Amino acid sequence: MTKEGKLIIFSAPSGAGKTTIVHHLLKKIPNLEFSISATTRPSRGDEKNGKDYYFISNEEFLHRIAKKQFVEFEEVYTGTFYGTLRTEIERIWQKGKTVIFDIDVEGGLHLKRKYDGQALAIFVQPPSLAVLKERLTARGTDSIEKLNERFIKAEKELDYAPQFDIILKNYDLQTACKEAEELVRNFLAP
Ligand code: 5GP
Repeated sequence: MTKEGKLIIFSAPSGAGKTTIVHHLLKKIPNLEFSISATTRPSRGDEKNGKDYYFISNEEFLHRIAKKQFVEFEEVYTGTFYGTLRTEIERIWQKGKTVIFDIDVEGGLHLKRKYDGQALAIFVQPPSLAVLKERLTARGTDSIEKLNERFIKAEKELDYAPQFDIILKNYDLQTACKEAEELVRNFLAP
């Protein structure tokens, strides 16, 4: 049996800056390791299989659901699944490290409930929905249909913020990264 460790959950609507904050923390705090999710979406830009995500087929995803290999999974966007594999958390805990997640809001709350007492759940709050839309559009990686779906979801997700342990405002990325670092260091302090 793997000895259980701690978890740090970063959730936010897509485009709020959580991925950048998580990457910053991974650089600054050596005891953290990123939980690589499985997804059925194709890779984007210079994303690498086994580093950013495990890119798998719909068929394989369904097979893994049937085998109960996911701690949580969701159809985040229509026809596109994302999920956290149990083996991923165990792999990281086995090294004596803390797992850090970049996960959507419902998935984040699911993990928070499941690992109550071991987890710190942080909601990254963008300055406004308008700014969020600008950031998502500027990224230029999604079609208009996909962008619209992300906007609609983002609007709903903002309502979940109070259910998290902490709401971290990301109005200025550098400040948000600094604040995140302090929060995580405090949580990990013995
Ligand atoms: P993206 O396609 O932009 O990489 O991710 C879309 C959304 O899915 C983001 O909010 C991201 O955090 C979330 N996500 C990534 N991995 C998982 C996962 O394992 N489970 C859930 N529920 N959401 C995830």
